[in-house]
Amino acid sequence: MKHTAGPGAAPAAELKVLRELARGNGLQLAAVGLLALVSTGATLALPLVVGKLLGAIQSGEGLTVWAAVMVAAGFGSAAAGALASFLLGRMGQRLICRLRVRTMRHSLGLRLADARREGSGNLVARLTSDAARIKNLIDIGPVQLPMAGITVLGTLVVMGLLDWVLLLITVGAFLAAVGIITLVVKGLRRKYAAVGEEVGTLAQSFVAALDSLTVIKAYRAEDTVSANLAERARKVAKLETDAARMESLMVPVINLGQQIALVAVVVGGGARMLDGHLLLADFVAFLLYLLQLTAPLIMAASGVSGIQLGLVARKRFEDVFALPAEEGTYSPDVATAAPRSASVQKRAVASAEVPAVRFEDVVFGYEAERPVLRGARFTVPGRGLTAVVGLSGSGKTTVLSLIERFMEPDSGRIEVHGRDLSDWSPADLRSRIAYVDQASTLLQESVRANLVLGRRRPADDTTLYSVLDRVGLAEDIRALPDGLDTVLDGATGLSGGQRQRLALARAVLADADLVLLDEPTSHLDSVNEQRLRLAVDRLAAERAVVVVAHRISTIQHADHVIVMDRGAVTDEGGHAALVDRCPAYAELVAGQSLGADFRAPVA
Ligand code: ADP
Ligand code: MG
Repeated sequence: MKHTAGPGAAPAAELKVLRELARGNGLQLAAVGLLALVSTGATLALPLVVGKLLGAIQSGEGLTVWAAVMVAAGFGSAAAGALASFLLGRMGQRLICRLRVRTMRHSLGLRLADARREGSGNLVARLTSDAARIKNLIDIGPVQLPMAGITVLGTLVVMGLLDWVLLLITVGAFLAAVGIITLVVKGLRRKYAAVGEEVGTLAQSFVAALDSLTVIKAYRAEDTVSANLAERARKVAKLETDAARMESLMVPVINLGQQIALVAVVVGGGARMLDGHLLLADFVAFLLYLLQLTAPLIMAASGVSGIQLGLVARKRFEDVFALPAEEGTYSPDVATAAPRSASVQKRAVASAEVPAVRFEDVVFGYEAERPVLRGARFTVPGRGLTAVVGLSGSGKTTVLSLIERFMEPDSGRIEVHGRDLSDWSPADLRSRIAYVDQASTLLQESVRANLVLGRRRPADDTTLYSVLDRVGLAEDIRALPDGLDTVLDGATGLSGGQRQRLALARAVLADADLVLLDEPTSHLDSVNEQRLRLAVDRLAAERAVVVVAHRISTIQHADHVIVMDRGAVTDEGGHAALVDRCPAYAELVAGQSLGADFRAPVA
C-alpha cells in the first residue's frame, strides 16, 4: 500500500515518436516525404537512363539530352535527399528537446521512493544515451526505411517489367538472406535492451561515485572505485560487442545473396538472350538494377536493426513516464505549469486546540518485513515546541518523512491539523509545512532563491536580512561576492553550520503552520545555538514546531518531548515529568547512553 499515494497525475506513458514528430510539423513532415520520394525516384530512374544512353550511342541520336538527364537525375536525387535530411534533423532535435524536458520534469515529480529506486544516474542516462538512440526512430522511421523499402520495391517492379523470369530467379536467391536477417533483427532487440539497462547502471554507479568524491579522496579509494566502474564499463562493452557481432552478419548475408543472384541471372539471362527473349540493352539494365539492389537492401536491414535500438530507448522513456507522479506536483509541460496558488481544497485549520500531528499505531518499513516504526503513537500539540529525542537509528527522521508524506505508512493512522494524512494532497500538505532536512540541503541557486522557496508573499532585502540576522548569518551573507544573489554552486559553498542557519532562515520565512526541524543545530557552536533557539521560540509562539534534537538545552526548553526507542514511542510529556517517570529519558538526559548523536552542548 505504500506505493499508492493517491491517483498520480501521470501523463500517458506511451510514446508515439512519429505522432510526436508530426505534432505541429505536419507540413514539414509532408515536405520531407515528398523530397524523399523525388530522391528515390531519381535514383530509380538512373539505370533506365543509362539504358537510354546506351541506345543513344548505338543510334547516334539524343546523346547530349540523355547525358544531361542523367546528370540532373543524379544531382536532383542528392539535393532532395540532403534537404529532407536537414528538415528531419531539425524536427528531431526539437522532439528530443521536448522529450528531455518532459523526462526532467517528470523525474522531479516522482515519489521519492520511485525516484530513488530508479536512481539518479539511470534517469540521467535517459537524457544522454537513450536520447541519442531514440533519434534512430526519427532518422530511420519516417524517411530512411520507407525510402529504402520503396527503392527495393520500385527496383523489383522495374526488373519485373524488364524480364519477369529473371526477377523470379533474383527473388529466389535473396529469400534465404531475408530469412536470416529477420532472425538477426529479433535477436538484436533483446541484446540492445540489455545494453540499455547496463548503460543506465553504469551511469548510476558513476553518479554515485561522484557524489561521494570527498570520501573517495579521503580514503584514496580512486583506484578501487575506478576498478569497479571499469568492470561495469566492460560489461557494457561485452554486451555491445555481442550485438555488433550479430549485426555484422547482415552485410555479408546480403552480399552473398547478391552474388548468388548475379551468377544465376547471368547464366539464365544469357540463355534467354540467346533464345531471343531478351535484348542486350534490357539485359544490361537488369544487371545494373540487380547491382543497385544491394545498397537499399543493406539500408533497409540496418534501418530495421537501428529501429530496434530506438524502440528499446523508447521503452526506457516510457518506463519513466509510467511511474506515477505525485498528485498536484506535476504539470506535463513546464511552459503551461500553473503557478503555485493557494489551495482549492477546503483548508484544514491550524489551531492551538487541534493537535498539529497525531500518530496512531503507525507501522512503517522502507523494505517489506523490516519495520522501522513498530506502532508509533504520539501527539504534537497545535502550538509550541515539541522535541523528538532518541538514539541514532530510532526512527526520528523517518517520523518527519512520514509527516511530509514522502512515504506512506504500512498501517496505522497519521493526522495533520486534525485531518487524515491520506486526505491531504502531497502538494497541499507540503505548502503548509516548512522542513529542514538533516543534511540542510540547499539548491544550487542564489541565496535569495533558497530563502524564499517556501514563501508565497514577496520578501524584500530588509526582510531577508532581518531573518538572516536572527539566525546569525547576516554578516556571512553580506560578505559573499554578490550578497543575496550569490549562487551557491560548487564554487561558493557554505560550511555545515552556515547551511544549517540558512536552512533555518528559509523555514522562518516560509508561510508554514507546521515546522519540522531535523537536528537543526548539530553543526553549530553554542553561541549560534543560543541564537537559533530564540529564533525557533519565536516560530513556536504562533505554530507547532517539531524539532529532532540531541542537545539538552533544546530539549529542556521544549513544551513537549517525545521519547523514541527503536521505532516505538516510549513516552511523551513535559521535560520535568519525563525525568521523574521515564527512566530511559532520565538516562538520555543524564548523557549516560547518548552516543555520538546525542552530545551535551559544546562549552
Ligand atoms: P534517526 O533519524 O532516529 O537516526 P532514521 O529514521 O534515520 O533514524 O532511521 C531509522 C531506521 O531506518 C534505521 O535503522 C535506518 O537504517 C533505516 N533507514 C533510514 N532511511 C532508510 C532508507 N532510505 N532505506 C532503508 N532504510 C532506512
Ligand atoms: Mg535522523
